[in-house]
Amino acid sequence: MNHSTQNAASRAGSAPAGLEVRDVRVVYPGTPPVVAVEGATLSVAPGETVALLGPSGCGKSSLLGAIVGIVPVAAGAILWDGSDVTAVPVHRRGFGLVFQDGQLFPHRSLARNVAFGLEMAGIAREERRARVEELLDLVGLEGYGARAVTELSGGQRQRVALARSLAPRPRLLALDEPLSSLDADLRARLAVDVRDILAAAGTAAIVVTHDPAEAEVMASRVLRMADGRLL
Ligand code: ADP
Ligand code: MG
Repeated sequence: MNHSTQNAASRAGSAPAGLEVRDVRVVYPGTPPVVAVEGATLSVAPGETVALLGPSGCGKSSLLGAIVGIVPVAAGAILWDGSDVTAVPVHRRGFGLVFQDGQLFPHRSLARNVAFGLEMAGIAREERRARVEELLDLVGLEGYGARAVTELSGGQRQRVALARSLAPRPRLLALDEPLSSLDADLRARLAVDVRDILAAAGTAAIVVTHDPAEAEVMASRVLRMADGRLL
């Protein structure tokens, strides 16, 4: 969304399209409780990639978890296209998540890893097969479908993780330090690839990182975070 359409939307009093996070607070129980996120407000337009940048422990994963629905929200709201999804369970939000270490299924082939979300969604075999091929192509692993994930390099694993998350066509993809388990050389190259893959998929994305250079490469907009707050 460009600035003029965004302004038009707010003039009309309608909520912006895409993700809207309003004044979100995340608190972990304990004595004393830990306030991990306070007053977080942000938006991500459809198709846009936003980076969440900040040092370790500042609350990035907690905020990302709250957005996708794996971390409870103590206050505030998460909206998509103006409808409140704060109480919608994680598997019904239509959001995908990529973790630092990929968390691939070790006993499934590469293709069956990518197919996982499609199987869960009850997509028919032929359609699954076509979508898996499309995704392997997108992440540069065409022809690798039959491989065991244990035969893959770290970079290839993260590509598979990305393909698996994109396969069910999430409306938003959340990536939590997707490159931080890789060595520096590979990280720099894969950051460019991740940006291109997200652009080709057209999915809105929030990518968490503690590396400013990586944030600049992967996202069109960088949001900084410190001590549980967006700056
Ligand atoms: P980041 O991803 O930026 O490193 P986190 O969101 O993981 O930050 O953590 C933010 C704060 O919340 C830290 O102080 C961390 O110790 C705390 N925290 C994270 N997860 C939990 C949890 N499950 N229980 C209690 N405290 C937590
Ligand atoms: Mg984290």
